[in-house]
Amino acid sequence: MIPITTVEFGEEEQQLVLEVLRSGAVAQGPKVAQLEGRFGELFGSPHVVAVNNGTTALIAAMQILDLQPGDEVITTPFTFVATLNAILEAGATATFADIRSDDFNIDPASVAERVTDRTKVLLPVHLYGQMADMDPLVALATERGLRILEDSAQSHGASYKGKYAGSYGLGTFSLYATKNITTGEGGLITTDDDTLADRLRLLRNQGMRARYVYEMAGNNYRLTDLQAALGIPQLERYAQTVAKRQSNADRLIEGLSDVPGVIVPRQLNGRGHVWHQFTVRITDEARVGRDAFVEALAERGVGSGIYYPKLVTDYDAYRSHPRVIPADVPVATQVVKEVLSLPVHTALSDADLTEVISAVRAVAGA
Ligand SMILES: *Cc1c(COP(=O)(O)O)cnc(C)c1O
Repeated sequence: MIPITTVEFGEEEQQLVLEVLRSGAVAQGPKVAQLEGRFGELFGSPHVVAVNNGTTALIAAMQILDLQPGDEVITTPFTFVATLNAILEAGATATFADIRSDDFNIDPASVAERVTDRTKVLLPVHLYGQMADMDPLVALATERGLRILEDSAQSHGASYKGKYAGSYGLGTFSLYATKNITTGEGGLITTDDDTLADRLRLLRNQGMRARYVYEMAGNNYRLTDLQAALGIPQLERYAQTVAKRQSNADRLIEGLSDVPGVIVPRQLNGRGHVWHQFTVRITDEARVGRDAFVEALAERGVGSGIYYPKLVTDYDAYRSHPRVIPADVPVATQVVKEVLSLPVHTALSDADLTEVISAVRAVAGA
């Protein structure tokens, strides 16, 4: 079976983890600082604050914005549930804009329609490795005095007109096991704002400035050096990782773009895609429905995934939540029924790619 996701660690990770183990200092320390510094250097961020996971990163980013009860955050309903959980954990109210079908990301035109006097934050999610259309979001945020928080959990190193994900004020990344860079669990927050960075560092460590000097109510959001040791070598290799994912995506696009009922993903002009997922849409024109497609691929030894089977606002737990305001999102409602992700990871061989392509073609009857 060709898996939809794999984890690959090299000699360097083993060496570095051993180094930390032998040092006996396994909590937050120099390796975390090194991971933060290197990530900032590579992806244009003056401040990087590592935390224990990507959900915490989102929560912390909103907590330091001092959101008040009733303050609204506009996001996409087509995301991993962590985005919504973080908004609720931070005490804010979640509202939703529709998405675009060409990049699966929040539609700035829909956001503009849904901004209210209570809106404080625009929270685009850069889904599957490609950034949202940032220019109109920035224009809207500037006009209305809003913050932008980018959920870049799936988009390390993705870019929009030469600017990296996470460089529009506040950004968050996940280092979970399935992400493009992983420490098992882990998260990063990026910002260009000195004050926000300072507050994030305090918040992460019990609100403590110096030993037992508490300046704010804080928490324990720390990452460990053991985890950071796993991440550092992956950063050094990351350009190759993205190049391999890009060439895999190119192969899949070339092999599948003429298949009736299968719409291949597009890398939009001006955007650097890091291909966290390769997500096609199975339309009504296809010979088999999306769910049957997944099963038929599995029978042919090709793993695939549905990210995500429902919109976050489709679940009763959230529909009935007093701080969730569901909205009419026709594009997202359609797209969620069509998406199917195919393997695009770095462990794929040439033969694997050929197999994925021929399996999809066979199932689609092309
Ligand atoms: C993975 C993910 C998160 C959460 O990250 P964790 O590290 O798993 O907590 C948040 N948002 C999106 C879009 C994600 O894919």
